[in-house]
Amino acid sequence: MEDSKIGFDSKCVHAGVEEYEFGPVVPPIYQTSTFKFKSAEHGAALFRGEEEGYIYTRMKNPTVEAMEKAVAHLENGYKALGCGSGMAAIHTAFASLLESGDHVICSKAVYGPTATLLSTIMKKFGVKTDFVHTSGIEEVKNAIKPNTKVIYVETPGNPTLEISDIKEIAELAHQNNILLVVDNTFMSPALQRPLDLGADVVVHSLTKFLNGHADVVGGVIVVKDEEEYNKMRKTLNQLGGVIDPLNAFLVHRGLKTLALRMERHSKSAQKIAEFLENHSQVKWVMYPGLKSHPQYQIGQKQHIDSGGMISFELKGGVDAGRAVMNSVKFCQLAVSLGGVETLIQHPASMTHHSMGKEAREAAGITDGLVRLSVGIENVNDIISDLEQALKKAGETATHHQEELA
Ligand SMILES: *Cc1c(COP(=O)(O)O)cnc(C)c1O
Repeated sequence: MEDSKIGFDSKCVHAGVEEYEFGPVVPPIYQTSTFKFKSAEHGAALFRGEEEGYIYTRMKNPTVEAMEKAVAHLENGYKALGCGSGMAAIHTAFASLLESGDHVICSKAVYGPTATLLSTIMKKFGVKTDFVHTSGIEEVKNAIKPNTKVIYVETPGNPTLEISDIKEIAELAHQNNILLVVDNTFMSPALQRPLDLGADVVVHSLTKFLNGHADVVGGVIVVKDEEEYNKMRKTLNQLGGVIDPLNAFLVHRGLKTLALRMERHSKSAQKIAEFLENHSQVKWVMYPGLKSHPQYQIGQKQHIDSGGMISFELKGGVDAGRAVMNSVKFCQLAVSLGGVETLIQHPASMTHHSMGKEAREAAGITDGLVRLSVGIENVNDIISDLEQALKKAGETATHHQEELA
């Protein structure tokens, strides 16, 4: 069937799967570090790039390649590069695209270690970064300098769920000869395809929705053309942060249910966000599917659905948030996101601790913000658990007030 006519859910099932020896339905795991040459001449030809084939797993491996093809296909990209973690993917992309003296504009609401990588290691190598609210095009425009090389956008941003207009920023970037890199981890290609909206490079933590089962750490870079791919592949070979065949196999298996999972994550998260928004103890809720979200309209333009991530703050602030996290029984208290199980965590003391309080506050990451990654369990079970935990948190708060009085 012609590719453009195939549904995204069908693509998830079949992407990257080719014909293999013995006819397996699923790509085999080539758990090998190296590959035999047919002759000395064959080996030399492979190294010269005159023949297609496999040499060494850090350079290329069929199981990894199958997963890379699948992700590139789902993102409507040219090719993808499997990395050992999301951070390895982000570092490889920066190392490939930037050099000393270059300037980067990065979203303020961004995965904590991404901000830290830019403000420490990349800075050490002569790259300067300005962190701005990329949800406002004027702020991005005002941050552009003659040496700006990359605009790095995470949308929705972690953990505030600030939404940036990919299409608008891509146009601005290209008018100024700047590349746009988008971290698409929170939405996945099931819900948002940044390359279609004009981005030049997409990065992902495979650890999250793409694998979806909380049993792999991995990352991926998706590029638009051959030139970019070759440059990126060279950098990855040298830095060495590749994914291994077994993890690539697991990610490829996870991708088959991506469309189904994202549909459920979004549907349940919408219900939970509405439940929280109507709860007397909740100060505010941020979810791309709520009309109260400040960039709701931008989201509606570029998302297919609203995703599985919610952040909220209780009226009782940090203490109440802590009480909820200590009282949940069904939701699990853990960092990471995008898996089938519901996870809850506290960014200020956990994922975004390394950013420092000042940078967190500038990004809108308040001390009382609680982040929820909605799983695919029965939504009523998740809501009942949150309800009992909120009740307990409320009782603790009243108790405290009585003690103080
Ligand atoms: C987790 C995450 C990363 C980093 O990925 P790792 O696989 O943990 O290295 C990057 N960006 C976002 C948005 C993430 O959630």
